[in-house]
Amino acid sequence: MLNLVLFGPPGVGKGTQSQYLTRDMGLLHLSTGDLLRSEIAAGSALGLEAKSLMDAGILVPDEVVIGMIKSKLQGNPDASGFIFDGFPRTIAQAEALDNLLQDLGTSIHCMISMTVPRQELIERLLLRGQDSGRTDDQDRGIIEQRLEEYLRKSAAVADYYRSQHKFKEIDGRGSMDSIYLRIQAALNTGSSSAGNGESTPV
Ligand code: AMP
Repeated sequence: MLNLVLFGPPGVGKGTQSQYLTRDMGLLHLSTGDLLRSEIAAGSALGLEAKSLMDAGILVPDEVVIGMIKSKLQGNPDASGFIFDGFPRTIAQAEALDNLLQDLGTSIHCMISMTVPRQELIERLLLRGQDSGRTDDQDRGIIEQRLEEYLRKSAAVADYYRSQHKFKEIDGRGSMDSIYLRIQAALNTGSSSAGNGESTPV
C-alpha cells in the first residue's frame, strides 16, 4: 500500500492534485471535506451536526472525521493505497490515522505540504466560490476564519510528520501541471529533506 497525505491551507490545490495522483497511481482519494458535504447533501444526522461548523469555517470535532475515515479504510480492504486530502488536520487526527493504518498493517509513506501566499489563497477561494456553490468560499470573513483554524490547529500537523521524516514541501503556485511535476519529484526523492523546515505561511 502507498498512503499519502496532501497537506496545506484551504485553497492551496489539494483536491486538484489529488485527482492527478488518483488518475496516475490508482490510489483512493479520501477528502474529509467532500465526505462531510456528501453527508450534508444526504441530510444525515452527522451532516446536520457538521453543517453549522463548516458554514462558520470551524473544524468539526475530531471523532466525527476520524469515524468517517475509519469506515472508509475498513470498507476498502483491497485498495492499493489512499490519498488523504484535508485530513489529518489536528495532531489527534494524525495519531488516530497512524493507529488505523497500523491495524491494517500499513502506514503513511509521505506528507506533501503545498504552500501558497495568503493573499493568493483568499483570491483563489473567492474565485472558486463563484462556481463551487460552497458558501464557505464566498465570504471573505469565513475564508479568513478557515485560514485562522489552519494556523491555530493544523499547521502543527506538519511537524508531526517532519519528526517522522515523512515531510516534503512544494511550492503550490503556477500551472496545475507544473505543480504536479513538483509533487512527482518530491515523491521520487529518497530522503524527506525537501522544504525549508517552516510551517506553511498563510
Ligand atoms: P475542506 O473541503 O477540506 O476545505 O473542508 C471544509 C470544512 O469541512 C472545513 O472548514 C471544516 O469545517 C470541515 N473539515 C474538513 N475536513 C476536516 C477535518 N479533517 N477535521 C475537521 N474538520 C474538517
